[in-house]
Order: sequence, then structure tokens, then C-alpha cells
Amino acid sequence: MQSSQCFEHFCSLYNSEEKCIAAFFDARWPTGFCCPHCSHRQFYLIRTRKLPLYECRDCHIQTSLTAGTILEGSRTPLKLWFQALYLHSLPTGISATKLTSIIGTTYKTAWLICHKIRHAMSSAESRELLSGVVRVNWGVYGHPYNPTIFRHPQEQPLLAGGTIDSNDQIIHLKIKQISDNHLIHDRITRLGSLAFTSQYVDPAVTDLTVVTQKFSRNRSNALISLCNRASNWMNLVFNGIGPKHLQSYLDQFCFSFNRVQSGENIFNNLLQYSASTSTLKYPELVSRANHSKLHKRNYFHLLREAC
Ligand SMILES: [Zn+2]
Repeated sequence: MQSSQCFEHFCSLYNSEEKCIAAFFDARWPTGFCCPHCSHRQFYLIRTRKLPLYECRDCHIQTSLTAGTILEGSRTPLKLWFQALYLHSLPTGISATKLTSIIGTTYKTAWLICHKIRHAMSSAESRELLSGVVRVNWGVYGHPYNPTIFRHPQEQPLLAGGTIDSNDQIIHLKIKQISDNHLIHDRITRLGSLAFTSQYVDPAVTDLTVVTQKFSRNRSNALISLCNRASNWMNLVFNGIGPKHLQSYLDQFCFSFNRVQSGENIFNNLLQYSASTSTLKYPELVSRANHSKLHKRNYFHLLREAC
């Protein structure tokens, strides 16, 4: 089936708020309602608002369907959220501009929805470590013309880590942006690679190779090629990504890649994480650290000094 036909089919399955409410309830409480305050399992249903409230029969505290999820506080109909989730579960993903034209919200609302969905994906990715046989390799996002030894402001050094199977295929992937304090120009420091392995690799792993140099003969071509694939995807679908939000797009790429590898239903999985991840608020999103201006200043300062 063409993806547009699949999307039409999806929309016909979730064509009312009622159907979406039922599906979101199941994703949030897969084994039935559980009061977030006292874990009691029974509730009174209150239907005076757009979205139902569940009043615990024991402690009488009311819980809304979306409280504590990425949908909390959103006024966008569930039906449109479901469409956005479906479009994000496709391998190509979707840009906020395109989503705006499909679900008919303002650009700002669509942009925020996209970031909240990526936040659920990042949270899903943070719950699993790389295990088994693990390879970690240097990578980069952005290849501007740069004849110097200094890192260009548009160059984002990365570390990609993968669990490999007995056929040397990558079955679980993580790609992480390297923070400025773990870089000397474009070189990843030892502390930088230690920070990656301690945060993302299972401490029980005994077969681990880390390559932080560009031209090492031990480099993993498979990981380099996945970094290139992620870069091409970000350039093609989103017209390129700045350093401030780069990590969340890398997490989206890995989220999709890992679910394709494990054969999971990406939409169902994404819906479950959306229903079990707390929301990301707008001020939090716009205040994400962005060192690019400082780095740009330093780069041109170094260039002037070198000339
Ligand atoms: Zn309760």
C-alpha cells in the first residue's frame, strides 16, 4: 500500500474522539486503570469535559486522561494528535510545516506537537542501554567547507554506538551529540568517549571497541554510514537541523531504526511512550542550551589569530 493510502486507512480507524480516547486509555493503562496517587484500580467516570476524568473510588482524586503524558495541557483534539503520531511513526517522519498543512493547526502548535513526540522518543531511547557486542565510532553532522584544523560552527561531532549481532549487523543504535567541553576543536577527548560509554553502554559489556579518530583502521563503516543516513534524512526532510535541537532528531532517527530492527509496531510503541512520558513544556524547549553562537565567535576568532 502507498503511504498516503495507509494514512487514509489510519484516519478512518481513528475518525472520532471516542475511538482515540479508548485507544489512549489502553496505551496509558494497558492492564486497566490504576490511580496515580494510591494505585487503586476502580474509578467513577466523569464526562462533563471534552476529555473524560477518572475519579478514584478509594482516594477520590480525579485524574484526567492526558495528565502526566506528552498530551497534558494540549487543546488540540486527540484525533489530530493521533494523526501526528502516525506520521512520526513512518520511516520518513514529518516536518512541522508539512504537519501544519495536514492537520490544519497553526505552525507553532504543529511545531510543539512534533517536539513533544520527539521528547517521547528520546525518553524511550534513554530507557535502554547498548548491550552484547558493542562498537562505538566517531561521526559528524554537517560537512561545510573547512580547510582549517578548527571545528567549523556547522560541524557537529557525534558518537554513534551500536550493538552488533553475529553477522556484524547493527541491531541497536544510539547517536549522540558531543558537548563542547568534550571537544578539542573537532577531536573528541577521552572524557567525551568515557561519558558516552558510561551513560549508554551496559556496564556488563565485555566486548567494546571505541574509535574516536576519523581515520582509524578500526573504524566501523556501518556506524559511519548510519550517521550519514541520519544526516541525509535531517537535511532532506527538515532542511537541516541546528545544534540546539539536533539531539532530539538523532533520537528520532534511532527510535525508528531500533524499532524496525526489533520488528515492533512503531505506531503502537510510540503511542505507549507518549502515554507514559511527562510532557515537555514550551519554555523548557526554547531554553535548551545552545552554544553555537559562542562557538561561532571562537571559530572566527581562532581563524583570525591563525592568519
Ligand atoms: Zn486513588
